[in-house]
Amino acid sequence: AASITLANLGKVYPDGTVAVGDISLEVPAGELVVLIGPSGCGKSTVLRMINRLIEPSKGRILIDGRDVAAQDPVELRRQIGYVIQNVGLFPHQTIRTNVGTVPRLLGWDRKRIRSRADELLDLVGLDPARHGGRYPHELSGGQRQRVGVARALAADPVVLLMDEPFSAVDPIVRSRLQEEFLRLQATVRKTIVLVTHDIDEAVRLGDRIAVLAEGGLLLQYAPPAELLSR
Ligand code: ADP
Ligand code: ADP
Repeated sequence: AASITLANLGKVYPDGTVAVGDISLEVPAGELVVLIGPSGCGKSTVLRMINRLIEPSKGRILIDGRDVAAQDPVELRRQIGYVIQNVGLFPHQTIRTNVGTVPRLLGWDRKRIRSRADELLDLVGLDPARHGGRYPHELSGGQRQRVGVARALAADPVVLLMDEPFSAVDPIVRSRLQEEFLRLQATVRKTIVLVTHDIDEAVRLGDRIAVLAEGGLLLQYAPPAELLSR
């Protein structure tokens, strides 16, 4: 796992929207930091800057001390797992093929991709023999979400970015996914930035919580226990 440093990060979109004002944040290696705040406060923008889907207007992002701006974006994204709300699985590919997306880009051989995909499906609580050959529409929402996590972990990334990963499912399934995810994190110990607007999720999953407000201003940064005692 690698540490992540955001230093005076800001983003103004071309239309003049100030999505992120000025954020500085340290995510220690192997920790899960939750970014929480109301809709539109710039959470997704922060994640998209970390994996260089968009470029910051100011500030720097370091992963393990290395400035991401100096790295090839394609290479960078291969080291970063990205999980989004509606997963974005390829509908005409099987679950196993979806999970193998990044390893395939990396040129792994077929046998290795298959065994890695099955190992990951098992890790997220899906049965490779039953679910591996199915298509995304043949799984439940909760199962698809697990596939999204498996796919993000496939090439053993150093960092995991999760944007509202469990919001698209109903509360009971969400609660189970969160629990499973905590167990998974205890095993894989990734450095994670997880975005949510759900305070229960933040307290449940976060080693630390960073609270953002409109315009991207960072208001508080506290471990859950400290936050709860206020
Ligand atoms: P959050 O993830 O906290 O809901 P976002 O990062 O998605 O917030 O958006 C932050 C702000 O930037 C919002 O006001 C949003 O409307 C705006 N925004 C997001 N993407 C773009 C874009 N491509 N162009 C202009 N404004 C954008
Ligand atoms: P979860 O709690 O993980 O969301 P559900 O209770 O929604 O799972 O689904 C239960 C079972 O129904 C799962 O084993 C899933 O494979 C199956 N299932 C759900 N949707 C479909 C579908 N469209 N086609 C075939 N099987 C499905």
